[in-house]
Amino acid sequence: MNENFLHYIWKHRLFNLKNLTTTNGEALTILSCGTHNQQAGPDFLQGKIKIGNVIWAGNIEIHLRSSDFEKHQHHHDEAYKNVVLHVVFEHDKEIISQKIPTLELKGLIPIHLLRNFENLQKSVDSIACEKNIAAVSGLLWEQSFSRFAFERLERKVNVVEQILKQNNHNWEETFYQLLAKNFGMKVNGEAFFELAKSLPVKILAKQKYSQMQLEALLLGQAGMLHEIFSDAYAVQLQQEYQFLQHKFSLQPIPKNYWKMARMRPQNFPPLRLAQFATLVFQSSHLLSKVLECSSIKDLKALFQIEPSNYWQHHYRLDALSDKTKKKVGDATIENFVINSIVPIVFAYGHLRQEDDLKNKALSWLEQLQAEKNSIITSWKKLNIQPANAFQSQALIELKNEFCDKKKCLSCLIGQHIINMDT
Ligand code: SF4
Repeated sequence: MNENFLHYIWKHRLFNLKNLTTTNGEALTILSCGTHNQQAGPDFLQGKIKIGNVIWAGNIEIHLRSSDFEKHQHHHDEAYKNVVLHVVFEHDKEIISQKIPTLELKGLIPIHLLRNFENLQKSVDSIACEKNIAAVSGLLWEQSFSRFAFERLERKVNVVEQILKQNNHNWEETFYQLLAKNFGMKVNGEAFFELAKSLPVKILAKQKYSQMQLEALLLGQAGMLHEIFSDAYAVQLQQEYQFLQHKFSLQPIPKNYWKMARMRPQNFPPLRLAQFATLVFQSSHLLSKVLECSSIKDLKALFQIEPSNYWQHHYRLDALSDKTKKKVGDATIENFVINSIVPIVFAYGHLRQEDDLKNKALSWLEQLQAEKNSIITSWKKLNIQPANAFQSQALIELKNEFCDKKKCLSCLIGQHIINMDT
C-alpha cells in the first residue's frame, strides 16, 4: 500500500461509491474527483463533493492515515487552506488544527485490487507482472508499444533540442555531436560527446580533404597522441596534431575519459575514432544527406565506411594486429539509425513542422528489425516478441522507465493486471 495506489483508486473511482459517509457520519457524494496534481500542493485540484445538502468545490488531499496531514505540516501551509476533503486509507486521528471532512477508504476498496497491487509491489521478478503477462491481450500490447515508443522518442527529441540550443540552433553541429556520442556506444559515449564538443565541426570541415589530418585531429583531441610512438604513422599523426592544435588553439580532453577494459577490439576507441574520421572525410553536410535519404538502404550506404589502410592492421596506435576489415557493420549502422538518426530527423521535422520527415523517421524504425540486447531477451523469455525496432524501443522504455521503477500504476499492462478479478 502506498499513496500512489490511493491516488490511482481515487482517480479511477475504484472503490465502493454507494452510501458513502464522512468519518463524522455525514452523507457524502463525490461529484468530481478533481484533476490529478503532479506538482507541489494538494493531490487533486478543483474537485466537487456534496456533504449533506451542501456542495463543496475545492481541493482534495490523500494520505495513508489522517495523522499524515499534520505530520506533513499541511496545516501550516496556505496551499492546503482550500482542501474540502481528506481521503485516507485509515482514519487514525482527528485533525484538530483544520476542520476538514474525512473519507476513510479502508473496507471500500475491492480486495482483488489490493491483492493484485501488493503482488506487483512485492514481486522480486525483474518484470514484476511476469506471472500474469500471458493474460494481457494483443490489443493492449499494441497500444502499449505505441505509447512507450513515442515516449522514448519524445525523450530523445528533448535531448536533441537541448543540444541544439547549446549549439545556437546549428543542426549540423548538433548532429555531429549526437552521432559522435553514438559512435562511442554506451561505454565511451560521453567521452566521444566531450571530444565532439571540444572540436567544432567547422574545424573538421577545413581539413576534410585529408583523411590523415582528420584522424590526427580526432585522435589528438581525444588525448591519445601524447605518448612516445615507434610506429611511423602514429608519429606522423602526432606531428600533424601538434601543428593543427596550435593553429586552432585546441585543448584535448583527458585520455582517462576513455575506457578499454573488457571491450571487444572492434569497439576500441582509437579504431572508432578512425572510423568517425572516415565518415567526416567521405561526407560533408551529413545531416542534409541524411534528410534526403528515402530508405534504410540509402542510409546504410552513407554509413558503410572503412577507415584508412593503417587500421586494417591495427585496433589502436602502435600495436600491430592481424589484417582484418574494420568496416562499420550493419548492426552498428542500425544502432546509429535508431539512436541518432531517427531522433534528429523526427526533431527536425517537429521543429520545422514538416510532417513528412517525422513520418519518414517513424517508418525507418518500423522497417528495422527489433534490437537484440539483454532487455529484449528478457521480454522474449516471456513470449513478448517485438516485430520491429519501433516495438523494441517501446519495450526498452517500458523496462527502464516503468518496470525498473515499479511504476506499474502508470502502465497500461499494470492497470489491466491490477483490475483482474480472478
Ligand atoms: S510496469 Fe507494467 S509491464 Fe512493467 S512490471 Fe509493471 S505492470 Fe508489468
